[in-house]
Amino acid sequence: MEDRYDVIVIGGGVSGCSTAFFLASDPGFDGRILVVERDPTYQDAPSARATGGIRQQFSTPENVRIGLFGSHFVRNASDYLSIDGEAPDLSWREGGYLLLATPESLPVMRENNAVQRAEGADIALLAPPELERKFDWLNTDGIAGGCNGLSGEGWVDPYSLLQAFRRKARSLGVEVVHDEALRVARSGSRVESVTLAKGGEIEAGAVVNAAGASGVKEIAATVGVDLPIESRKRCTFVFECRERVEPVPLTILPEGIGFRPEGRTFLANRAPPPESDPPTRDTDIDHDLFEELIWPALAARVPAFEAIKVTSAWCCHYDFNTLDENAIVGTTPGLDNFYVLAGFSGHGLQQSPAMGRATSELILHGEYRTLDLRRFGYERVLAGEPLVEANCF
Ligand SMILES: Cc1cc2nc3c(=O)[nH]c(=O)nc-3n(C[C@H](O)[C@H](O)[C@H](O)COP(=O)(O)OP(=O)(O)OC[C@H]3O[C@@H](n4cnc5c(N)ncnc54)[C@H](O)[C@@H]3O)c2cc1C
Repeated sequence: MEDRYDVIVIGGGVSGCSTAFFLASDPGFDGRILVVERDPTYQDAPSARATGGIRQQFSTPENVRIGLFGSHFVRNASDYLSIDGEAPDLSWREGGYLLLATPESLPVMRENNAVQRAEGADIALLAPPELERKFDWLNTDGIAGGCNGLSGEGWVDPYSLLQAFRRKARSLGVEVVHDEALRVARSGSRVESVTLAKGGEIEAGAVVNAAGASGVKEIAATVGVDLPIESRKRCTFVFECRERVEPVPLTILPEGIGFRPEGRTFLANRAPPPESDPPTRDTDIDHDLFEELIWPALAARVPAFEAIKVTSAWCCHYDFNTLDENAIVGTTPGLDNFYVLAGFSGHGLQQSPAMGRATSELILHGEYRTLDLRRFGYERVLAGEPLVEANCF
């Protein structure tokens, strides 16, 4: 390890590794990049434990565009992430999303669908009879319609995407070190160094804070930046079903429960109700959540799911933005070379290609060159003006 880097990225999850990859791939950049990762096993990182969904079914035009780039990126992963001609296998399944609406939520779904289609997303709004024809396993009682991604939506294996970014970044000269960033030192409007638990103080030309739920807030606080980000626990349950149920897109029920196939099993999760969703780092699996909220809704909407068996479960934490459940990206007022990349609130895996690229553009050019992501800036936090995204789950 050197004692100075042009860019130090704190956090080697998908956000940090994507940023390092895009920086290192830019022909105009020949600086040194260091990624600092506290836990290279990633056992508690959502980057390794997410559901892996990539969608365009958002309400904010920027999020739709980010999702479009996300699916373009994974479809073309061999162009972006191959090493010596060997393409990574991200287990990309273009199985679509299916969001279901009640009569009350249908008008909003319609508005969102218009936004998505205007941005070029291939998403159909289906009436109940069409839903029944396409998904004969679904009970449409109380369902007024559903939005189904016909192409461009699906899921990857999160850990494979993370490792593909990381390996490719390393192949381009990025150094990844197993260490913990303790603090960032600031002088006036610039950050100057990062102090590591083992490696001591390392000078930095710029610092990217991509430390996720387990560190982004604490690192930002060391330079006087207060991020409205909390660590929230999310549990995922794996279950088997005796009957064959297919084809199943990544389905989101009106109750906020998501499920998708994983080989011959299924993954399911949902956020706990707001009153039982405190900031926490505890790792106990919330079995009551499955028994009391998830399973009854699954069984009601998918009759075959009345007879299922949970085979495993895990929990991890994601970076929940309490202002508006959207990412916070870019510099913070008063600091020229300190970049934040966090607050994804459950959709950061699919956003990692676009957000990493955007952060590299800010560092290299001082402005966004591809997608204009200024509305995700920290300024909205200071102004108390949420960038509301209706489709958060
Ligand atoms: C159950 C669940 C399901 C999800 N499903 C989806 C989905 O379907 N689609 C989707 O797009 N997103 C999904 N997400 C969200 C997604 O996983 C996250 O938004 C994304 O992984 C965030 O990546 P990150 O790199 O910003 O943060 P992280 O993955 O948290 O990575 C941050 C890294 O920083 C390291 N770190 C922290 N502090 C320090 C420090 N001081 N020094 C050094 N290293 C440090 C951590 O060890 C960690 O590896 C889901 C999340 C969960 C929990």
